[in-house]
Amino acid sequence: MSNTSLAASEVIHTISFPADREQIILVRSEFPVKAPVTELRMPNWTPGSYLIREFAANVNRISAASADGAALSLGKISKDRWQVNTGETDTVVVDYEVFTPDLNVSTSWASQAFALINGASVFLYTPQTSELPQRLSIVSDAGRGESFTAMAPALDGDGFRSENYDELVDNPVAVAKAPVYRFTYEAQDYALLNVGENEFWDGEQAARDVEKIVAETQSFWGINPLKKTYWFMNFIVGGKGGLEHDHSTVIMTGRRQMRNRNDYIKWLGVVAHEFFHVWNVRNMRPVGLAQYDYQNEQYTSQLWLAEGLTSYYDNLLLSRAGLITPKEFMELLAKDIHRLETTPGRLLRPVAEASLDAWIRHYQPNANSVNSTISYYTKGAVIGFVLDTYIRKASKGRRSLDDVMRKMYELYSNEPYSHDAFETVVADMGGAGAGALLRSLLTTTTDPDVDTAFDYYGLELTRGAILVTGEPDEEPLISALGVLWEEDNPGLIVKAVLRGTGGSSAGLIPGDEILAIGNERLTRDKFDSLMASFSPGEQTTLLVSRRDRIIELNIILDVAIPDHFEIVLKSGFGKRDITRLERFLGQDPRQ
Ligand SMILES: [Zn+2]
Repeated sequence: MSNTSLAASEVIHTISFPADREQIILVRSEFPVKAPVTELRMPNWTPGSYLIREFAANVNRISAASADGAALSLGKISKDRWQVNTGETDTVVVDYEVFTPDLNVSTSWASQAFALINGASVFLYTPQTSELPQRLSIVSDAGRGESFTAMAPALDGDGFRSENYDELVDNPVAVAKAPVYRFTYEAQDYALLNVGENEFWDGEQAARDVEKIVAETQSFWGINPLKKTYWFMNFIVGGKGGLEHDHSTVIMTGRRQMRNRNDYIKWLGVVAHEFFHVWNVRNMRPVGLAQYDYQNEQYTSQLWLAEGLTSYYDNLLLSRAGLITPKEFMELLAKDIHRLETTPGRLLRPVAEASLDAWIRHYQPNANSVNSTISYYTKGAVIGFVLDTYIRKASKGRRSLDDVMRKMYELYSNEPYSHDAFETVVADMGGAGAGALLRSLLTTTTDPDVDTAFDYYGLELTRGAILVTGEPDEEPLISALGVLWEEDNPGLIVKAVLRGTGGSSAGLIPGDEILAIGNERLTRDKFDSLMASFSPGEQTTLLVSRRDRIIELNIILDVAIPDHFEIVLKSGFGKRDITRLERFLGQDPRQ
């Protein structure tokens, strides 16, 4: 029961889990009140993930009472708000349950095995109490395990305490039986929590690698804003991705992800990405995200910087930390360029606009996304490479994008940066030409000139044509339909039709199942060999099942999009290039 004098100065949230139902979190929240009517709100989104998730849709069985247990009338007034007639009471006690349908880094999950609490999806707030300290108590049986969080323990030892609602939301909690690997780097404490660690996951090795990422990132920024233990909360339970917080990150990964080199590099990349965010987006923030409004979308045209440049640096810091080879770094960079240059939508929407549209495009992709937009992660990373190289070249190797990032942090770690702040710093550090280049990369759809950038390092990008096995000059190019296929489907079902291709002109639409080409039965198994027997530019017919009706379409076949790009040494690659690459990648490129 709450103590009235305490209740006047803090909000108390208590969560528990019913023994007989999975995916349910029971919440009791006690709010001090002063007015006779109080409005309760449930967030619609959580910072770092720019999607309206309508968390109120999972709130059920809500009721309100005064501190002495007398029921108070409560009614819903909009999709995300409730009104309580609090009358004379000075504390309103609200009970409700939260259903947790999805296991991902941005929402909550409750099961017998473990729980993940992301505050925005669980806790109500009132506008009058969101600046008050928030106490959190977790009632859990021993079977589920301990509570882990970067949130500070309450002063009296009872649960955890946040300074305000923002901090409650920013400190996810894991309830689990899980090993913790602790280390200290330059007087700063870190912990890696491995929920779901199994025989395929080497926790000690992962912790050593995380420590290398921490060391490299701290030395990159040269300044450390952390005030308490930083938690890498790693859920080895399937799923993917990560979400950044001030003093922690939630990461999800597959159970066997550490056993495959490329998959493990992906995990290391997520770790580096989320940790880089401590500086870039948590402490140094665009003006559009300065103060969180949990009910409404918040717009910024600078996710190419907050996310895209973070994506550029995550892999780069892995190289500088010696966790990946220069060759592996170049493969990852080539992959980003391939994704960019094979996405027709890059020609329609500048990356600054793609950022503003994150809420309705990046987080809600549809069959036409590939034609209508470009990922600010992918294009932002490629812009990072081109801009970085431009500054290195223009300053004769004296400066780089690293200096721009550090200058930005120096200027904007305490106040949000405006729309043109980055461009100004780029022009200051890299010259007017660098500023103009950046502006054009952000506001036009002209492709970033990666070829000139590679040339600076004595490298070359080959956008290899797709060839079937054999001598390149003798074999035909594989011709293509200009479509993307639905994954995890045994049939050849069109997921998207690329703009400007033969498939588009032929009239293919998403959902079409291709049954035959040129009167030959077409299946996944036979696709490559059958397509190789056609030449680009050749006209043929497709037999298509569209909403269960069989139709025939005429198609002029395209040249297939290359599977991947490759970065190779240019002739004359020499000592000067090695020096440049060494400064860029932090290691000798010849290894
Ligand atoms: Zn990110």
